[in-house]
Amino acid sequence: MILSRRAVLGGLIASIPATAPAIAMGATFAALNYPITPVAIADGVWMVAGADEPIRRDNGGAIANITIIDTPAGTVLVDSGPSLRYGEALKAAAEQLTGRKVIRVYITHLHPDHAMGLGAFPQEIVAALPGTIADIQRDGQGFSDGMYRLLDDWMRGTDLKLPGLPIRTESESFGGRTLRLMALSGHSSADLAILDEHTGTLIGGDLLFHRRAPATPTADLARWRESLGMLDRLLHKSAVPGHGPFDPSGREAIAQTRDWIDWLDQSLTDAVRSGLDMVEAGEMAIPAPLSVMAAGRYELQRSVSHFYPALEGRLLPRIDKV
Ligand SMILES: [Zn+2]
Repeated sequence: MILSRRAVLGGLIASIPATAPAIAMGATFAALNYPITPVAIADGVWMVAGADEPIRRDNGGAIANITIIDTPAGTVLVDSGPSLRYGEALKAAAEQLTGRKVIRVYITHLHPDHAMGLGAFPQEIVAALPGTIADIQRDGQGFSDGMYRLLDDWMRGTDLKLPGLPIRTESESFGGRTLRLMALSGHSSADLAILDEHTGTLIGGDLLFHRRAPATPTADLARWRESLGMLDRLLHKSAVPGHGPFDPSGREAIAQTRDWIDWLDQSLTDAVRSGLDMVEAGEMAIPAPLSVMAAGRYELQRSVSHFYPALEGRLLPRIDKV
C-alpha cells in the first residue's frame, strides 16, 4: 500500500480530539511575533538587526539586517525580511518610527531571508536589480518551499512575489536625499549595494558579513572579491552588513568578508588536493581570527557541500582517463 502525504495527514488529524487542533494552532500562530527593534546608526538611518544564526524556527527566519531610511518624501527600506508577517511588522514599525509612509523597498538579492517579506508592500514600490528579479523568478519557489518546511506557521500567508521595479539607474533621490545604487555581484548573480550620500552609510546587503561567516550557496568567489574591492574604494563612513553587527568603521566588514572567502577558497582547494572527503573538509580547523565569526562551522560545512563536487571534478585526475 502506498501512503500519500494527504492520507498520513488525514490520519494524524483524525487521531486528535476534535476541538484541540484549532485552539492549539491558533494559540501558536498568535504567539509568533517578530520583535522589530530599530537602532539609530546615522542621521535618519536605523538598522534592525537579524539574529546571527542559521534560519531556525526559534528565530522565525529573521536573520538578515534591515535598514530604514527617513527621507523628506517618505520612508525607504532596504530588504523586507523572511515572511509576510515580518514585512507587515516591519512596515508598521518603520512608519511609526519616521511618521512617514513607506515609499520604496529595495531588495538587495534573491535570498529568502531578505526578499520573502516583500508581499507586505505594493509591488510597484519594490525595486531590485533586473538580475535579482530573474533570480527570484527562477529559484523563488524552491526557496519558498524550503522556508515553509523550516518555519511553517511563521510563513503563513507568504506568497512568492516579485519586485515590480527593475533598477536601471545609478541613483534615486527622495525629497533631496540621494541614494546611490550599485549593481554588483558575487554573493549572488546580482547584488545591490546602496550608499546614502547624506550620511555616508553603505548598505552592503550580503556582499558584507561582519563577525558572522559568509554564506556561499549562490556565490562566485572571484566576482565577490571584485565587488569587495569596489566597495573598499568608496568614500563611505560606515557600513550595514547583510548579517552581523553594524560596522562603524565601514572597513572591518569588507576586510572580514574578504579574509573569509580567501581562506575558504584556498582551504577547500588544499583539502581536495590532499584527499580529504567532504565530511573531513567540513571538520577542518578554522584559524584565528576567523574562528570568532558566528555560524562559522555551519557555513563552512554548507560551503563544502556546494563547492566540493566541482572542485574535485577540476582538481582530481580520473583514474579511468590516465
Ligand atoms: Zn544572501
